[in-house]
Amino acid sequence: MKEGRCLLCGEVGKLTFEHTPPRAAFNSDPARFFEGAELLKERGRYTPSQRGIGKRCFCANCNSFLGTTYAKEYISWANQAHSLLARLDDGPLGTYLFWGNCNLFAKQLLAIIVASSGPSFCDNNSIIRDLILDPRRCASRLPFSLNLAYYKGNSFRQSGVFGRFNSDSGRQEIGCEFAYYPFHIYLALDGGCSDGRFTDLTYFLADTPRALRGYPLRLGMTNLEGYLPMNNG
Ligand SMILES: [Zn+2]
Repeated sequence: MKEGRCLLCGEVGKLTFEHTPPRAAFNSDPARFFEGAELLKERGRYTPSQRGIGKRCFCANCNSFLGTTYAKEYISWANQAHSLLARLDDGPLGTYLFWGNCNLFAKQLLAIIVASSGPSFCDNNSIIRDLILDPRRCASRLPFSLNLAYYKGNSFRQSGVFGRFNSDSGRQEIGCEFAYYPFHIYLALDGGCSDGRFTDLTYFLADTPRALRGYPLRLGMTNLEGYLPMNNG
């Protein structure tokens, strides 16, 4: 079994396979991983996985904690988005009511970003680690923004932390993204997200962790491979 440092809690030990996103959220089919420039080649090299997308990145404690605390909520929201997307064309989407616990859902989105980022991500963003590891914790005025869109692409995309220059705002944006049907997550580490297809859900993290209610959401749609400029063409 692979040894290493857990991307979430930082403990060194045995690492377990984490489905990212959770297995029951349409992530149980065999997948192929292309890394870096291999993605751009016609016949790029890839790593096959027979059990969906994920990797050995969390210790057994964190893996089971995430599975019992947040995964179910994500699966519910993904299923709600799926039933919406299944009966809508690609046209403009309206506002739809999502039912659930927004705080738990938002923390699962953060966990997905952590799982797809580098080993020092939680050291550099300790508030994210603290929010995930304490299910009762909520917070407002965070240094980042958590943004979401629908995603109907048939491949997945994860970036780790990247910077891009936005010519409209004239500033550099730093963030990470994860796109896998039916959601596209963009964590803007320097605050705002200038892409209007995304909806800012950072306030989900400020809501009481036990609240179960309906949330009217208007999310944009990204059919693209990802948010990086080379894929926006
Ligand atoms: Zn851990």
